[in-house]
Amino acid sequence: MLSDSYGRIATDLRVSLTDRCNLRCTYCMPAEGLDWLPKADQLTDAEVTRLIGVGVERLGIREVRFTGGEPLLRRGLVGIVERTARFAPRPEISLTTNAIGLARLAQPLRQAGLDRVNVSLDTLRPDTFRELSHRDRLPDVLAGLAGAAATGITPVKVNAVLMRGINSDEAPALLRYCLEHSYELRFIEQMPLDAQHGWRRENMVTAEEILADLSAEFVLKPDDPAARGSAPAEAFLVDGGPERVGIIGSVTRPFCGSCDRVRLTADGQVRNCLFARTESDLRAPMRAGASDAELAELWRLAVAAKLPGHGIDDPSFLQPDRPMSAIGG
Ligand code: SAM
Ligand code: SF4
Repeated sequence: MLSDSYGRIATDLRVSLTDRCNLRCTYCMPAEGLDWLPKADQLTDAEVTRLIGVGVERLGIREVRFTGGEPLLRRGLVGIVERTARFAPRPEISLTTNAIGLARLAQPLRQAGLDRVNVSLDTLRPDTFRELSHRDRLPDVLAGLAGAAATGITPVKVNAVLMRGINSDEAPALLRYCLEHSYELRFIEQMPLDAQHGWRRENMVTAEEILADLSAEFVLKPDDPAARGSAPAEAFLVDGGPERVGIIGSVTRPFCGSCDRVRLTADGQVRNCLFARTESDLRAPMRAGASDAELAELWRLAVAAKLPGHGIDDPSFLQPDRPMSAIGG
C-alpha cells in the first residue's frame, strides 16, 4: 500500500502523458508555451505502462487518470489505455482533457477501456475562449464533449476554472449548458500553479462566490456529505436534483486530510502532492535495470514522506517549480 505518516492511503494515480498542449489557458501556461521536456527524458509507452502495472499490482492503485499537458496529444494513448485495462485488479480508467480531438478519439478510447472522462470547459463565448486560451478552438471542445457523450460514458464531467473579469460571470450559463446536455459540472478554484506565477489570491473566484452566483438562479441543496468520501468536490443538488453541481474549493476549503492521490510525471517522477517541492525519480532506476519490487519500494518511500497539506495560506508558501501542465492536473 502507498500510505503516509498521516494515515492517508494513495489509491488514485494521475499519470501525465505529456507536458505539451494545444491550448494556452492563462491559469496554466504563458501564451508563448514552455520549454517542453526533451523526448529522451519522457517515459516511452512501455515504460509508463510498466510503472502503472507496478502501481496497480503491487501498491494498491485502484484508479488511473491520464492527464497532462494534453493527453490526447500523446500518440500512444489508446494503446496505453488498452494495456492499463489488462492489469489485475483492473483499475478504473479516466481521462482529463481539453477535448480537442476527442470527437474522433472518444470511441477508440472507450473500446480500449476508458471508463470516465472530465473535459475542461471554462466559457461558452468564443471570444472569451480565445482570450483565456489564446486559441480559437471552442467548437472543437464542444464537439469533443458531444463525442464523449455519444460513446455512452456517463457521467461526462466538465471542469471549469473561473477568472475574475474574464469568465467570472459565466457560472450560471455553464451550469445551464451542462444541465441541458446532461454533463456533470464542477467548478475548481484557481490555484497557484501557473508557469508565469501570476496567481493572486484577490483575483481568485472563491467557492463561496460561485455558490452565491449559482444560487441567484438555481436552488442548490448540499448533497449527502457522506457520499463525498475522498472526492474533492462539494456536491449540490440542483433544483431538487437528481442533477448535481460540484464546487472544488482547493484553496479556501482544502481537502488535503482525505487526499488519496499520487502523481507520475511524463518524465517518470513520483510527486506525492500537486504542491510538492520534491519529486522521486523512478525513470533513472528503471533505465538502470531496477526490478518491479525495487521500483515499488522507491514509490512507497516517496508517498510515505507526504506533507499534511498544501500550505497555500502559510506565509512561507512557495509555489512548486513545475507548473500544472508539467505536473499533471
Ligand atoms: N489539458 C487537460 C485539460 O485541460 O483538461 C489536462 C491537463 S489540465 C492541467 C487539468 C485540469 O487542471 C484542467 O481541468 C484545468 O482547468 C486545471 N487547471 C490548470 N491550471 C489550473 C490552476 N492554476 N488552478 C486550477 N485548476 C487548474
Ligand atoms: Fe492545456 Fe489543460 Fe493547461 Fe489548458 S489547462 S493549457 S488545456 S494543459
